[in-house]
Amino acid sequence: MPLLLLLLGLLSTTFAAEPTVHVVLWFDTEDYITPEDDDACLRLARDLKARGVTATFKVVGGKARVLEQRKRFDVIQALMGHDIAYHSDNHSIPPTPAVYLKPLSMAEGATEFLLREGPGARDVMRIFGVKMLSTYGQPGSSWGPQSHAALRQLGIPSYVDEGQHVGLNNQPFWYGGLFWVFNLGPNAIRADINDPSKLDATFAKAAQRVTELQKAGGGVLHFWYHPNEFVTTEFWDGVNFSRGANPARANWKPAKLRTKESSEQTYRILNSYVERLQKIPGVRFTSVRELISFYQPSTPATLTPERARALLAKGINWHQQWSAAELVAAALGVPGEVASPAARHESTLKSTEITRAELDAALAQARRFIRETRRLPGMVWVASETLSIGDLAATMAQAPEGAASVEVRRAALQFEQHVATDACRNFNWVIHPEGFCAPELYDLGRLEAWTIKPAALRVAGVRQSR
Ligand SMILES: [Zn+2]
Repeated sequence: MPLLLLLLGLLSTTFAAEPTVHVVLWFDTEDYITPEDDDACLRLARDLKARGVTATFKVVGGKARVLEQRKRFDVIQALMGHDIAYHSDNHSIPPTPAVYLKPLSMAEGATEFLLREGPGARDVMRIFGVKMLSTYGQPGSSWGPQSHAALRQLGIPSYVDEGQHVGLNNQPFWYGGLFWVFNLGPNAIRADINDPSKLDATFAKAAQRVTELQKAGGGVLHFWYHPNEFVTTEFWDGVNFSRGANPARANWKPAKLRTKESSEQTYRILNSYVERLQKIPGVRFTSVRELISFYQPSTPATLTPERARALLAKGINWHQQWSAAELVAAALGVPGEVASPAARHESTLKSTEITRAELDAALAQARRFIRETRRLPGMVWVASETLSIGDLAATMAQAPEGAASVEVRRAALQFEQHVATDACRNFNWVIHPEGFCAPELYDLGRLEAWTIKPAALRVAGVRQSR
């Protein structure tokens, strides 16, 4: 073989090896009132399939049921060529998830979510003939951490949406036992389907993000629409359920329709955006179902108690591929997956020192609790006073070997920074009651952040910078 050809071959493999950037395109498929939305679903499913793109359709239970009632088996069939996921049972009929979860504990909320949203999930699975829904995303900004345990019970392995509630470095992460694509920030780039003149600039921005993600070893970029946006000029639920309104079914009104011309323009812009992204080397349109398999599973790699304590000594936080909860479990000699505490407890212990024997007894309580429940305890006892799990972890991590007394440390739970704090602005959604705020949901979200950690791509030999 001539040397030149060999060199060219080597060069081309070098250039072909740019890390993959997965582009996830998802649709909140939800308008069960405006019949023209069915045609939008059909058109989008077919156009994208023709381009070789598998999108993720997060379907509302009510939407799946009207497709069946109207005998739109053509639409159901076309959507079945894509990834089928879930987007709540009724979406906007009050009370929406954040509203009904706000007064509930983690356990009560999970039960309530299962009761309200479980039947719709089963409808979507039955109507689309799928054994598993790949993901869930909340209606509007109606998020609540109690949903996570319920989603796991429904067999849903991931959470995909965009919002401010929780996030980690604008890339996928693990949280509450689910794989998350959420809060991608600059890596969430939607094309404005109403203005063709903006497409060039939007595409340039997306291409720039692809380059940045490739420098970091690959990653995810996402964007989303609602099929109804392609046929109506207003949102179906804003028309009927604004600010907690709940009209009788007989009084539901369809949304105003776009002209044929305006509708065609929206499809043209989306198709053109997709086509241009597809041409970027290394870009791959990936459904959520597939995306999960491109990431390493959440099961933590084993590490010694000494190493876990050393990492926790740097801060009570996730480190490398381990969540703070996993590090505490490993430090106690009961490594593996572990859930967040069921409730938050503050330390009542006031003294600044305890004996090594008292610490060992406290650690034994935590170890036993984790071994039996695979959950962190919220607190442990030191005689008749309590030490929160955070303070216990900080005290254990800093305790010198062999000393007879140990300084009690107060933990700064650094992982809590991944949950937002503005519980009014972030829950402001036209369907929520006026002035709705839910700081209680962020309190629970912070508690669950014991389990947060970055998700790592399965790319051998490529460094992931996060
Ligand atoms: Zn929605």
